[in-house]
Amino acid sequence: MYINDLSLPPLVVAQAGESYNHNTNENRWIEVLVDCPGIAKEAVTEPEEGEKEEKLYTYRLPAGLEVKLGDILSVPFGRQLVGGIAIRLLAQPPANLAPAEIRDVEDVIHPKFFRESYWQLLERVSQYYYTPLIQVIRTALPPGLLGRSQTRLRLKPENIPSGANEFVGLAAREILKILQSQGSGDYSFKFMRRQIKGFDRGKKQLLQRGWVETYIEMPRYSRPQTKPVVTLIVSIPPIDLNKRQREILEVLRRHGGELWLSEFLQICNTTTPTLRRLEEKGCIVIEEREILRSDRGPTVTADQPKSLSLAQSQALSTIKELDGYATVLLHGVTGSGKTEVYLQAIAPLLAQGKSALVLVPEIGLTPQLTDRFRARFGNKVSVYHSALSTGERYDTWRQMLAGEPQVVIGTRSAVFAPLPNLGLIILDEEHDSSFKQDSPIPTYHARTVAQWRAELENCPLVLGSATPSLESWISVRISDTKTDRHGDAEKFSVTASPRPRHVLQRGEPPQRSGSRVPVSSHYLSLPERIHSRPLPPVEVVDMRQELQQGNRSIFSRSLQEALQQLKQRGQQGILFIHRRGHSTFVSCRSCGFVLECPHCDVSLAYHHTEEGAPQMLRCHYCNYARSHPKNCPECSSPYLKFFGSGTQRVAQELAKQFPELRLIRFDSDTTRTKGAHRTLLTQFANGEADLLVGTQMLTKGLDLPQVTLVGVVAADGLLHLSDYRASERAFQTLTQVAGRAGRGEDPGKVIVQTYTPEHPVIEAVQNHDYQSFTDAELEQRQALNYPPHGRLILLRLSSLDPMEVENTAQAIATALSQQEGLDILGPAPASILRVANRYRWQIMLKFAPDALPQLPDWEQVHQLCPKSVSLTIDVDPINMM
Ligand code: ADP
Ligand code: ZN
Ligand code: ZN
Repeated sequence: MYINDLSLPPLVVAQAGESYNHNTNENRWIEVLVDCPGIAKEAVTEPEEGEKEEKLYTYRLPAGLEVKLGDILSVPFGRQLVGGIAIRLLAQPPANLAPAEIRDVEDVIHPKFFRESYWQLLERVSQYYYTPLIQVIRTALPPGLLGRSQTRLRLKPENIPSGANEFVGLAAREILKILQSQGSGDYSFKFMRRQIKGFDRGKKQLLQRGWVETYIEMPRYSRPQTKPVVTLIVSIPPIDLNKRQREILEVLRRHGGELWLSEFLQICNTTTPTLRRLEEKGCIVIEEREILRSDRGPTVTADQPKSLSLAQSQALSTIKELDGYATVLLHGVTGSGKTEVYLQAIAPLLAQGKSALVLVPEIGLTPQLTDRFRARFGNKVSVYHSALSTGERYDTWRQMLAGEPQVVIGTRSAVFAPLPNLGLIILDEEHDSSFKQDSPIPTYHARTVAQWRAELENCPLVLGSATPSLESWISVRISDTKTDRHGDAEKFSVTASPRPRHVLQRGEPPQRSGSRVPVSSHYLSLPERIHSRPLPPVEVVDMRQELQQGNRSIFSRSLQEALQQLKQRGQQGILFIHRRGHSTFVSCRSCGFVLECPHCDVSLAYHHTEEGAPQMLRCHYCNYARSHPKNCPECSSPYLKFFGSGTQRVAQELAKQFPELRLIRFDSDTTRTKGAHRTLLTQFANGEADLLVGTQMLTKGLDLPQVTLVGVVAADGLLHLSDYRASERAFQTLTQVAGRAGRGEDPGKVIVQTYTPEHPVIEAVQNHDYQSFTDAELEQRQALNYPPHGRLILLRLSSLDPMEVENTAQAIATALSQQEGLDILGPAPASILRVANRYRWQIMLKFAPDALPQLPDWEQVHQLCPKSVSLTIDVDPINMM
């Protein structure tokens, strides 16, 4: 089904937008993604209420019907006609279907529902991530969209000649009559089919003559809620009013001239007829006004563009000058004002009638960011993320398809937001791993897809971060070293260390496929905080010494002192605790020694499957295993400890040692309910607590000027995750957390507690030195052929049967080992072998980026997989666990 060479166009019979109307070919078949109606009622296993299942069905294309991939079709299903999307043309009917059983496509309802560039995007995702197109469409479209859409018929009066009735049959005449009786000339199929006998025949006639057209209307899920509001419209009441009427107007004036009707009636103790009389006299108006839905957020006060710093305005002018596709890395230290640059880059686009897409790691975590966009662009801003209800998603989709200039802020899946006329895509905190989907397929990275989208829509892509991913860093630097991206990896060498200039720009050499437009890459830097505020000094505390000197608390003396001062000075602080990962590493509390795999540069993960089972240490890359030692192999200390300390424990400890400090816990436990993030952050911003204690969530974009202290309780949990990306991620997280301190007028301070203060990541964080850290890290990646120098594909297998999944993994690995140019790591059990009763194994494939043609035949790989074993192909995996 899939071809291996990604540089070739996808193996579909026709490209989107290309017609497939060969008259010579009598029998043509097409796969249609159908929203199966009524399945929920009929099927034995009932899907969730309201969730219809979309499935692929094969239909025959009748002669003379012109169909393009991505068209919305109407097809017979059971005794009904339903909507479906044309997915794939087939030269042969499927072997398991007798041609006689295959029914005909009824009609094309909505040609070009997907614009060509959008369809191409879906195809590219399907191809690169080895995922059937239908799955990609499911990812992109709100669930059940088609099933709930209405197919409608609309008059085209400009085409209809006078005396039209004489040319068509009875049913067609009746259709015309009904349509013409209505101002908009527009009715749903469903309605007309009930009204008119022979509707389908009549409709066909009218369509052939071009007198009507069909279209699809997306479900209108929630009608906007409205409430009557009373508005004062005179400044001086007319003289013919009585005393009571004057009083009423005076009340309204004192309330700012506007009140909800219900409130007003209560306050004045009056009645609606009394108000109506005032309305007749032209003193007030009573009208329906929309109540904004809660997800539109609380009203925010409008603000004005800020006058920019020099670096900001240089960055902005480069972005504004871009014409067409380009990638920009906006590398700005924490608090350097990246968001202001985004806002001012978007404003002129909206004025030109274009839209912008802003992707953020987790929407719930960034109420501040959405507020800032709303303050600038008001109701042109909408939010799109997976936590929206299905109805809210329909509404946002309709609004996006309407094409009005707008800003959509969303998480990963919003990269598929169907905004026409896209002028700019922004990925904020582009290094964040939540842009990657681990499962289900497609295992896409929003940054990768955004890149394609920007290319297909021919608009710029801005990647913003204080700690750019190595991928993005290297991509803007490659164009600086005149290297063909698919060429010799040696030339990517970082040892040459070309310092990024303020603005780099060079067209990339033509790609092998020859189809790509030249890429221009830009590096833009905001090296200073706003108002030249300094980055906070970072104090590193060696927790080994604390222990030696008799401090058994989880807080070093330094941190304790800082916490004490916090209260005295009336300032606020943040304590960061690394979320306890699934796998934990083991280290010695006396000497800091970390148990590592002798064959790989990763720490061993602690495994303990059940009570009574031996405690094991294991490498997730090569499956090396050893038993958990009693004593430290280095210094024989018995104080071996597996890391990971939860927020709860820290909160308890704080309550014991600093009962006077008021704290707010901010982690996945306390932020589960809708709006909890915002509530907790607002409480904190209002000074209702002294300390915010939390996990990873604290790293993302918080801009709280009162925060002066940031404490990292134990950095080690981040440093030694058994993953080749551990260092990069640790550096990013620690730098981001540290960046929360000292954003206001009072200078900040960061205290990082660790058992390995000599770790390069700690040193880099302490020195705010992105560049040296990145250079060193890239060198290591290159030596081991890890991304961004090499590429990875992770095969995740799971099964209820531990033996079967292990044997399958083995068989697949053996088959793959025949292939040249592939480095196979594993098979190895996943770090938590059993999850939800499934046993999980994985195989990692490592290859050079130009080895793509030698990639395995996935069909064959899937064939090695018995039904009881599920296989996910994770392309460019980020989460190895
Ligand atoms: P970043 O996203 O780079 O961490 P922010 O955009 O959050 O930085 O900006 C940090 C703070 O500086 C915010 O409170 C923002 O309102 C403020 N700010 C940004 N640009 C300016 C400017 N040009 N003048 C004054 N304040 C600014
Ligand atoms: Zn030791
Ligand atoms: Zn190993």
